[in-house]
Amino acid sequence: MIKKILVANRGEIAVRIIRTCREMDIKSIAVFSDADRTSLHVRYADEAYRIGPPPSAESYLNMDAIIKIAKKSKADAIHPGYGFLSENAEFAEKVRKAGLIFIGPSAEAIIAMGDKMRARELMQKAEVPVVPGTGALPDDEAQIKQLASKIGYPVMIKASAGGGGKGMRLVHSSKDLISSYRRARSEAASAFGNDAVYLEKYLEEPHHIEFQILADNHGNVIHLFERECSVQRRHQKVIEETPSPFLTEETRQEMAKHAISAAKSVNYSGAGTIEFLMDKHHHFYFLEMNTRLQVEHPITERVTGVDLVKAQIHIANNEPLHLQQEELKQSGHAIEARIYAEDPYHNFMPGSGLIRHISEPLGLGMRTDGYVFEGYEVPVYYDPLISKLIIWAPTRSEAIDRMKRALYEYKITGIKTNIAFIQRIMEAKDFIDGNYNTHFIEENLDFLL
Ligand code: ADP
Repeated sequence: MIKKILVANRGEIAVRIIRTCREMDIKSIAVFSDADRTSLHVRYADEAYRIGPPPSAESYLNMDAIIKIAKKSKADAIHPGYGFLSENAEFAEKVRKAGLIFIGPSAEAIIAMGDKMRARELMQKAEVPVVPGTGALPDDEAQIKQLASKIGYPVMIKASAGGGGKGMRLVHSSKDLISSYRRARSEAASAFGNDAVYLEKYLEEPHHIEFQILADNHGNVIHLFERECSVQRRHQKVIEETPSPFLTEETRQEMAKHAISAAKSVNYSGAGTIEFLMDKHHHFYFLEMNTRLQVEHPITERVTGVDLVKAQIHIANNEPLHLQQEELKQSGHAIEARIYAEDPYHNFMPGSGLIRHISEPLGLGMRTDGYVFEGYEVPVYYDPLISKLIIWAPTRSEAIDRMKRALYEYKITGIKTNIAFIQRIMEAKDFIDGNYNTHFIEENLDFLL
């Protein structure tokens, strides 16, 4: 049984994991870089160890240093959170070779899903619909042109190793195809160390809808419904909600079935997310699988009542799932807003600096997952996400009203944040009507700013 967990992460997700550890009477170990000496995860953990200088490559990405601390402090398991080493198969393998439990899927499952092209192939075998597209593009440029016109413009050129909204290029017509292709390849080579690119049909006005799954080591897989993540800026999520205002019950069931087949096809274990794109005719396609806990997991927790970190730990202990599919339902409505240290009025420039004052919203239906406090200096080195505001209410419209009230109370001074920007999203007609797709922010930018 897991008695002590090292959390190989920082920020809000490290705090969130440590909270569940304490509730489960499991000892937690924090690691921190020099920039995070005073961070909340360091304070809340039972033990904390310095891991290196501020740059991630020398701290939160330093596999050997993390494993060494885990061994020395007698941890049983390592929880990677999201980002950093969470989808790094080499790390998962190293952790296991060191005799520790990696709280996540096998290295094989990470590898299978980590490469977009390979994942597409696997999904096709498992009869999960994928976005129409190709395999690795050949060197022959005439052939590439042929492939693109067969799919039909616009097309997307994607890096197989891409992630985090990077490594995608939209091509509207054949005259731009080859130059974009060349640029995509060289960019992919320098950003991801892998220049494999492929073509995908560009879906117009799509929804990004994803399914949370949990799988144990005994062949059981359940889903915990969907998250609608179409409010995005530069392919990065800003607001997520569940249930999706767009999905019909019939399509929900259909997608859930495919999400479960997807997980089963790679012998998945742990918490994972199957992302789909859906067009306006409700046709859906597998986009990718994230083999870790996601930023937006709390909205699922809020409507199902399941603590996903606790479920991950039970699974890592080799226990069979504690829940049956039939016991789960989506109760009420949850919305998450990502609060970023950024300046929406200056091109969303990420910020850092001293928090002079912070007061978080309280009252009915609130949850904030954050890590900053008064007097805290937000470091420049990491993701600008400082907090997640998760609202629950019995209905969607009450959840929006409550989100507005919460944002009214939410005060942070000293650094710039996107709180006012999110308030405007809550006031936008298309958002209120649940009538939005992934272009919502760019199309409403004048209203939102
Ligand atoms: P990443 O791994 O970088 O997050 P994804 O493949 O998950 O990239 O795509 C991120 C977002 O990019 C999607 O949510 C969607 O908004 C947009 N996108 C990706 N592929 C397509 C496509 N074929 N057509 C239209 N939009 C797409």
